[in-house]
Amino acid sequence: MKGHCEACELALEPYRADDAPAYFTIFIVGHIVVPLVLLVERWGAEPPLWVHALLWLPLSLALALILLPRIKGAVIALLWVQKAAAPKPVTESLDPSA
Ligand SMILES: [Zn+2]
Repeated sequence: MKGHCEACELALEPYRADDAPAYFTIFIVGHIVVPLVLLVERWGAEPPLWVHALLWLPLSLALALILLPRIKGAVIALLWVQKAAAPKPVTESLDPSA
């Protein structure tokens, strides 16, 4: 991930998308691919499994690679709009005796 926005120099480090982009990508790709699998199975004369693998593995991979960076950008933008930056890590010791 780039450390800052190339357009406005906004620091992107505090905005932690974590697993949200991957979750949304899987959710969307699944809702595109699974109905297509069922359609081909229902009206496509029930092709053998290797045909399914040949169709859906590349499609799933392509959709994930296309969608993931865009969804990650949208999640970071949402965090920025909501001012939901992660707190800065505490560098000093919390132990008063130290
Ligand atoms: Zn920017």
